[in-house]
Amino acid sequence: MQDIVYFLSNNPTALYIVVGLFSLCIGSFLNVVIYRTPKMMQQEWHNECQMLLHPEQPIIDDSKFSLSQPASTCPKCKTAIRWYQNIPLLSWLVLRGKCGNCQNPISMRYPLIELLTAACALVVVAVLGPTVQMLFGLVLTYILIALTFIDFDTQLLPDRYTLPLAALGLIVNSYALYTTPTQAIWGYVIGFLCLWSVYYLFKLVTGKEGMGYGDFKLLAALGAWMGPLMLPLIVLLSSVVGAIIGIILLKVRQENQAFAFGPYIAIAGWIAFLWGDQIMQVYLG
Ligand SMILES: [Zn+2]
Repeated sequence: MQDIVYFLSNNPTALYIVVGLFSLCIGSFLNVVIYRTPKMMQQEWHNECQMLLHPEQPIIDDSKFSLSQPASTCPKCKTAIRWYQNIPLLSWLVLRGKCGNCQNPISMRYPLIELLTAACALVVVAVLGPTVQMLFGLVLTYILIALTFIDFDTQLLPDRYTLPLAALGLIVNSYALYTTPTQAIWGYVIGFLCLWSVYYLFKLVTGKEGMGYGDFKLLAALGAWMGPLMLPLIVLLSSVVGAIIGIILLKVRQENQAFAFGPYIAIAGWIAFLWGDQIMQVYLG
C-alpha cells in the first residue's frame, strides 16, 4: 500500500490515469445515486404518510429499493443490465446509446455525468497535487456533483447527503486540513444563519418561501469545509453562476420555470474550494 502511494505521488501521469478511471466508476455510481435517491425519499414519505393515515393497513414493501437493490434494468424492457454493459462510458459507446435488448435509447446524461465526474476529479488533482487535501477534495467533489443533479431534477437537497458532508468538513478540519477547527465551526454556523436570515426576511416581506432548508444546510456544509471567510465569495459566485446557467436554460428551454438554488451554491462552493484564495487576492487587490 505504501509502495502504491509512493509510486502515485511521484508519477503525475499515473496519478491522473488512476484518479480519472476511478472517477469514471464513481460517476457511474453517482448516476444511480442521482436517479434513485429522490425515489427512495418518495417511498419513505409515502410509507410515513400511510402509517399516519392508515395505521391498520400493512405497508406494501415489495417494491422497496435502495442504492444497491434491485439491480439496474432497462427502463423500457426491464432486462437486467449485465456487468459488461455497465462499464462507465465504454458500454454506452459500444451500445451506441441504446439498450442491448430492445434498442430503447439510453440518455446521454449517464455518460456525460461520468465524464463530468472524471473531469472535475482531474481538475482537483491538478490544483491540489498528490496530497491528503486532494483525497478529501475528491470526496467533496463527488458529493457536490450528486447534490447538484438531484437538486436540479427535483428541487431537493437530501439531508442524508448534506448533513454527512457538513460532518465530514468539521472532522477533516479538526485536523486543520483546509482551515482551523475554530474557522470550520463558525463557517458551519454562519453558513446556515446567513441564508436562513435571507429566507426569513423574504418570507416576512413577501409571505412566500424563496428557498428551502436544504440550501442552508449545503451552505453550512461548505462553511464547515472552508471557514466563514469564504462564504461571501460563495454567495457572490453562486449568483454569477446562477445568472449564467439561468440565461443558458432560458435559451435552451424557452420557458421561465423555477430554478433550484442548490446547484449554484454547489458549483460556486467547488470553485471557491479550489481557487477561493486566489480569487480573494485578486478581488481585494
Ligand atoms: Zn431495453
